[in-house]
Amino acid sequence: MNKDKKVIEHLNSKWGKHPCPMCGQNSWTVSDTVFELREFHGGNVVLGSGPIYPIIPVSCNNCGNSVMINVIQS
Ligand SMILES: [Zn+2]
Repeated sequence: MNKDKKVIEHLNSKWGKHPCPMCGQNSWTVSDTVFELREFHGGNVVLGSGPIYPIIPVSCNNCGNSVMINVIQS
């Protein structure tokens, strides 16, 4: 919960009131789940190899356009 708030605050400060670039609506949903973005190894999951990027998807409520936020950078 705390982490989600931080991400939303971060986006608010960085994006401001930035509408969706696809449809122009300003209604975003920040996923409460952090996903791991791994290097792709031809469909095989290779543990301990390459960097893993924790990302949070932010989706437009109107058209579904999604933006991936790198949690480390934010
Ligand atoms: Zn949109």
